[in-house]
Amino acid sequence: METGVFMDVVVYSARAYDRQFLNLANAEGRYRLKFLELRLDRHTAAAAAGAFAVCAFVNDTLDAEVLALLQQIGIKLVVLRCAGFNNVDLDAAAKLGIAIGRVPEYSPYAVAEHTVALLLMLNRRLHRAYNRVREGNFALDGLLGFDLHGKTVGVIGTGKIGRCFARIMIGFGCTVLGADPYQDPEALSIGVRYVPLDALLRDSDVVSLHCPLLPATHHLINKETLQLMKPGAVLLNTSRGGVVDTAAVITALKQGRLGGLGIDVYEEESNLFFRDMSDDAIQDDVFARLLTFSNVVVTGHQAFFTQEALTTIAETTIDNIDTFLKEGQPRYVVSR
Ligand code: NAD
Repeated sequence: METGVFMDVVVYSARAYDRQFLNLANAEGRYRLKFLELRLDRHTAAAAAGAFAVCAFVNDTLDAEVLALLQQIGIKLVVLRCAGFNNVDLDAAAKLGIAIGRVPEYSPYAVAEHTVALLLMLNRRLHRAYNRVREGNFALDGLLGFDLHGKTVGVIGTGKIGRCFARIMIGFGCTVLGADPYQDPEALSIGVRYVPLDALLRDSDVVSLHCPLLPATHHLINKETLQLMKPGAVLLNTSRGGVVDTAAVITALKQGRLGGLGIDVYEEESNLFFRDMSDDAIQDDVFARLLTFSNVVVTGHQAFFTQEALTTIAETTIDNIDTFLKEGQPRYVVSR
């Protein structure tokens, strides 16, 4: 494809920070970036007319119907500014001749550190302490925590983020168990002990999810697997919402079987996250129920949200477009 021509890229689900970091990465002005706050779906795909590429995020829809609409208006490339690609129909993209790029690694530290933040918040009841102290209440009742030192932490998915999280937990003096179809040599070298999933759930005081959302991992945490967990164990999810059956988790919380839940992702988050809904009534009763538990902490998919991560995401996104124009494929191509 000819380079040097002014080419339009439509950026969906764009927030002020996307604009800031992508404009910096595109400082030479090779591309005309058109930022849309709209989420990409079948109603908004037409807004990309005139562009050759679309830049999308985690909750944009890239199913067969949307991809076909994009192809009809001349879109040749979709660059995801995230690592996960569970929202893309890769078979449809291949049939339609649309290349898909992603950012496979930006800052595993960002997500791993946020997972630790959720754990410490729950374990030391920081969310309760913060509010109490501001109201002049310095009583400690209800704030009793437990030492992480000496506890067993189960890491489901020992990829880049899971390994980083494991390393931090080992630093805390925890024993780390891993469950992953692939035993990573680096994880083994830092002391992660691989066990079957059942054993991990049975023996862990803290279970943290770091696997991708795949058909095999959909609702991996469900009624049955929750029953295998130690009573009072803490569950953390910063991977993808669909890995956890939220209704089953609510039942476990109501029964007092789960000691705590820290989530940055939620299976129906696309209707909630990345927007200010503070003046709206939340329509999702399952999500609203989650917020009523004092041992649940929810963040709105912000684990990736650090300056370092956003810089790498923007630079890799522009590099994916550059490489596509030179070589016909983004540098970090996603394919079946
Ligand atoms: P990665 O590809 O490096 O690691 C994923 C690991 O999961 C791999 O080792 C893989 O073998 C393992 N896995 C696959 N199927 C499994 C199964 N059935 N059981 C156990 N393990 C399984 O990915 P990563 O960079 O570490 O990211 C992990 C996930 O974190 C991503 O897929 C993404 O969904 C999520 N993520 C979330 C945020 C956020 O802001 N909350 C940001 C980035 C990534």
